[in-house]
Amino acid sequence: MRTEMDLTLEEKASLLSGHDDWFTEAVDRLGIPAIEVGDGPHGLRKETGVDMVWVPATGFPTASAMGASWDRDLVRRVAAAIGEEARAEGVQVVLGPGVNMKRSPLCGRNFEYFSEDPLLSGELGIAYVEGIQSVGVGSSLKHFAANNQEIERTRISVEADDRTLREIYLAAFERVVKTADPWTIMCSYNRLRGVHASENHWLLTTVLRDEWGYDGVVVSDWNAVHHRVRALAAGLDLEMPGTGGVTDKQIIDAVRAGELDERIVDAAVSRVLRLVERAYPGPELVHGPIMELGVAPGDRLSDEQLALLRADEHHNLAREAAAGCITLLRNENAVLPLNPDQRVAVIGAFAAHARIQGGGSSGVDPTRVDNALDFLPEALYAPGYVHTPLDAYQDDLDAYLAAHDATFADDGTGPARRSAALARALRLAAAAERVAAGPLSARAESLIEDAVVVARDADVIVVFAGLPLAFEQEADDRTTLALPADQAELLRRLGELPAPLVVVLSNGAAVTMDPWHDRADAIVEAWLPGQAGAGAVVDVLLGRVNPSGKVAETFPLAVEDTPGYVTWTGERGTVLYGEGVFIGYRWYDALRRPVRYPFGHGLSYTSFAYGELDVDLIDAAAGAVRVSCTVTNTGRVAGREVVQLYVGDPDAAVRRPERELRGFEKVALEPGESTRVVFELSSRDFAYWDVAVDDWRREGGEFTIEVGASSRDPRLRATIELPDDPRIAPLVPDEALLDFKPSRFTEGHPTPMSQAIPSVDEQEH
Ligand code: BGC
Repeated sequence: MRTEMDLTLEEKASLLSGHDDWFTEAVDRLGIPAIEVGDGPHGLRKETGVDMVWVPATGFPTASAMGASWDRDLVRRVAAAIGEEARAEGVQVVLGPGVNMKRSPLCGRNFEYFSEDPLLSGELGIAYVEGIQSVGVGSSLKHFAANNQEIERTRISVEADDRTLREIYLAAFERVVKTADPWTIMCSYNRLRGVHASENHWLLTTVLRDEWGYDGVVVSDWNAVHHRVRALAAGLDLEMPGTGGVTDKQIIDAVRAGELDERIVDAAVSRVLRLVERAYPGPELVHGPIMELGVAPGDRLSDEQLALLRADEHHNLAREAAAGCITLLRNENAVLPLNPDQRVAVIGAFAAHARIQGGGSSGVDPTRVDNALDFLPEALYAPGYVHTPLDAYQDDLDAYLAAHDATFADDGTGPARRSAALARALRLAAAAERVAAGPLSARAESLIEDAVVVARDADVIVVFAGLPLAFEQEADDRTTLALPADQAELLRRLGELPAPLVVVLSNGAAVTMDPWHDRADAIVEAWLPGQAGAGAVVDVLLGRVNPSGKVAETFPLAVEDTPGYVTWTGERGTVLYGEGVFIGYRWYDALRRPVRYPFGHGLSYTSFAYGELDVDLIDAAAGAVRVSCTVTNTGRVAGREVVQLYVGDPDAAVRRPERELRGFEKVALEPGESTRVVFELSSRDFAYWDVAVDDWRREGGEFTIEVGASSRDPRLRATIELPDDPRIAPLVPDEALLDFKPSRFTEGHPTPMSQAIPSVDEQEH
């Protein structure tokens, strides 16, 4: 293996930025090859060599869907399949998974993230990284850190306190880094407490490397580097895309001028060399057998290439994955599964042209796309609404594009096409928002009329609704949680008909459901289910698959209820995370707010009983606790249940969430079958980040343990008493309180106060 010792300073600097958009730099003199990275994470997005034209690959459900599966094994298998496709197409590192938290459901990129909860995100992140790296392809854990909105994503400064960062925004990254060793980690665009993530030494070195022990490569998000030398000194190894040597020269000059210690360059180079060594598959495989056969931009793959991709097998896996994600939100009077004798009216343009993924860098060119209508040939059909709202608003959008393209014009550090893509995304979003707000066009009215006429003849009405592509885009956030106005009106009108109404939703993140919710007898959340999702939806509708997804993000009643609503998306370049650790269910529980569907909710065609809770203290000092219970399938069909464990600390010295997810298991049970579910907890599961000691603290006292079917459906409850963590000094009052000695704070607690805090006189000696 080559080391940094063999290289000249120029060669070293060259290795620290890309050759172009997707390749690292080679050093031919020493036989150091380039490796190729490609976008993910829901399928491979390899560029053909022509801008924005991609080689076909399998489109799997997006991360928010996979989050709802709560299924580590499923995520691992999907990631391994994406890794196999990367090998077949000659990509050595896939840019994913994303484990950012969903601070607000309005974030336009939430479809790319698993959950509002760090444990669930972290566990699925581990599964993804382990899955893809098991086939010899690297991952890139992203976007590190606190990239929770798209508006102003390249300049917004996140102001969050240490506890909020540690417990919420860094926790999933920490879990994945410590467990799964992602080969690379991608820094985010935003600033964190005033400093860009790409230049944030505290984030990239103090926390990531010194505390968590990360020894892989830190790569920049695309064009996220603003000052190359500062970024390198902060811990950013690889700048992407390349800058044609401009920033390499800055590194060289800084070393020569004595402004940058060459050992920092060497450390970064050695990490990049290790990545190349890990990822390079050898000269015969580096281009990938599919590419060796030739793929012209825009071409479909040949049968031989599809076979090399294992396209059929992966399509089936994508269908299985979508089935595991689908979440049955509501099922009044057991209207689902459908009865085979019923005359079904299928309404909704998404039934004919499925919504499979979100917009932006994660978009895959799918090998094929299934549509629900293909699986329901007997059904009556009407589109009900326009598939792409842009169609209706083409006229006034060019002006919008021109205006925004100017704002986002290329600043000389990146390829111009990125600003064009961004502007296009914004243009689409603007169009979609107009549709969402109404008033309805004559065309929209007539599509609704036609749909009502078709639905009148049916025994059951199944509406495929959801968010148009433009609503869920990288580089833009949503302005509303509602469905487009034409869809909402369609649902309201169809709900007035006597036949039961089933709503199938395709959206990558939570939506609000007024005014139509109560008129829907059943609601099936299909998420953005990937290229094979339609078959899985029909399987659920017909009862061939028993749904087992549970929402990994709270569905609120109204956008005004959502965490961080009043500070979203910041002002004058800063966004204050004033709600602290209270995001997602932590927020709604603290406020005792009703929600539409709570975190962890999802129905099944069978029922499950919970019993025989045991909570055993294994090792008090280590905080090791074993929780176990029995879960039984009490219904008539086989099914899968996500058993969730929540811990609460009602008497803590700081305000803590009422309950926090600390374990989950997905179990498959035949009718009448029981299983024992066991969770192992450790000190950290009871701890909070204590700013007074800059460390995790497990305070002694009583903790609540809840095991249940959702965050608001606890089935079993217990409490457990734990001692103070002996590794950490007992809690002492704030220094300011010393003035009050002896005071009411010491009454009843004489020992720790007087012993733990030296008097001012003692301190001076
Ligand atoms: C996105 C990343 C992506 C990269 C490369 C960036 O704009 O934020 O998630 O991997 O582009 O396309």
